[in-house]
Amino acid sequence: MARYVFITGGVVSSLGKGLASAALGALLQARGFSVRLRKLDPYLNVDPGTMSPFEHGEVFVTDDGAETDLDLGHYERFTGVAARKTDSVSSGRIYSNVLEKERRGDYLGKTIQVIPHVTNEIKDFLAVGDDEVDFMLCEIGGTVGDIEGLPFFEAIRQFSQDRPRGECIFMHLTLLPYITASGELKTKPTQHSVKELRAIGIAPDVLVCRSEHPIPEKEREKIALFCNVRKDAVIAAPDLSSIYEAPLAYHREGLDQAVLDAFGISPAPRPNLARWDDVMDRLNNAEGEVRVAIVGKYTQLEDAYKSIAEALTHGGMANRVRVRSEWIDAEIFEREDPAPYLEGFHAILVPGGFGERGTEGKIKAAKFARERKVPYLGICLGMQMAVIETARDLAGLPDAGSEEFDHEAGKKRFTPVVYHLKEWVQGNYTVQRKVSDDKGGTMRLGAYTAQLTPGSKVAEVYGATTIEERHRHRYEVDIKYRDKLEQCGLIFSGMSPDGRLPEIVEVKDHPWFIGVQFHPELKSKPFAPHPLFADFIRAAKEVERLV
Ligand code: GLN
Repeated sequence: MARYVFITGGVVSSLGKGLASAALGALLQARGFSVRLRKLDPYLNVDPGTMSPFEHGEVFVTDDGAETDLDLGHYERFTGVAARKTDSVSSGRIYSNVLEKERRGDYLGKTIQVIPHVTNEIKDFLAVGDDEVDFMLCEIGGTVGDIEGLPFFEAIRQFSQDRPRGECIFMHLTLLPYITASGELKTKPTQHSVKELRAIGIAPDVLVCRSEHPIPEKEREKIALFCNVRKDAVIAAPDLSSIYEAPLAYHREGLDQAVLDAFGISPAPRPNLARWDDVMDRLNNAEGEVRVAIVGKYTQLEDAYKSIAEALTHGGMANRVRVRSEWIDAEIFEREDPAPYLEGFHAILVPGGFGERGTEGKIKAAKFARERKVPYLGICLGMQMAVIETARDLAGLPDAGSEEFDHEAGKKRFTPVVYHLKEWVQGNYTVQRKVSDDKGGTMRLGAYTAQLTPGSKVAEVYGATTIEERHRHRYEVDIKYRDKLEQCGLIFSGMSPDGRLPEIVEVKDHPWFIGVQFHPELKSKPFAPHPLFADFIRAAKEVERLV
């Protein structure tokens, strides 16, 4: 049975709880243990699939097709362990399960209450797969004291009581604010946060304290004394130059040792941190810089394209070059010539997105990249835009467009080169959807296989002809137009195994122009950069300055 580390936060949100959890996972792996990370989110949405990226950041998709919180992306990037549907849950999902059971009569007429019915549902979620790994790290979203979070805190308290003594520990993340006037780090908010936690029956074993300054010995002693935590379990979490420094930084501060001590694991296996030394070496000793323009819609909130930003960094690491990404609002190109904006970039990326807004601008960006022979990576909507651009400009289909935009506008304006897919094959069965289905969970989601054409650019990039990548979309390029487009130099070099769904297109006679219907960024890791991103940056590095 796995040992459990429950990770909670206090004082304020956005302290980097997800990063601390991911870094701890990486450190336990470095000591030879197997880990799995989980996220419990107190909000009432059933999953983040229908939440706006402006509001919630990117939706991270797992191989098994769950739309999850972006923290699961951090977990994968730090541990390499592919997240599953059963690694992410929200209050909405828990309540919806409980209510479904109630309707089915599973509770045999009992009165349904938060304790035990909701808490039991949470505990069942926690226990899934507990025989598969050495450590299960479970992060509770939000901060202690949030109304929605209470059932989760109660459930982890009960869970630790249900398990044999010493098999569960609690790690709490807080903030030590620095008061410039007096030049002091203040411990009071941390004390209050721990008090709140103890009032609901949870005593932290490890305290991780975010602070802009090192924690003086005196303050550390004070925190230990007032929060009833051992002094060497008070871990400083200083600000970092890169998130990838977190495993080494937390190791220096003694986090993994404190966690193993709390479990009484002694002697602790020595860590092998070579992977993270290499990651930091590549980050710190990069030579030169490539500039990548990301032409998208959700440009105000960096988290909206979190995995893309990270995958580009990984691509840079693979080539020992720094990647400077600049986000450009696609709508600008609907009013202005893109050339002055895009000249001077070494590569252009058009990411995924939903809805018509900004799409004409993305089409112009694809045209610029194709004509000027600038490396172009189109992801999901970014591939669809590239296909529409070629269809309009070269294949004699001036009205080419996507059904998505006609559906949105409620009228037919476009030749549907990209159409709404209502039936597709997943493994051994056929999935069917209607346009009118609920918005949540109605997309082609999760890992699907693609067959690559031998000798194509992508086959060379992947070094393989069968690949598996994650999807999240409703619309597909129509193979009806394949011959016409291929005659114009847009090659369909990756297809679904049944040959019906285009997965990859590439432009012939272009240094690097690839569009993919899936999201390669979700599988990239700092220690294993995704081949598409690694080669995209390699191509960008080779581009002579354009002007
Ligand atoms: N909106 C497009 C679709 O649903 C693209 C989605 C995406 O880019 N993830 O097909």
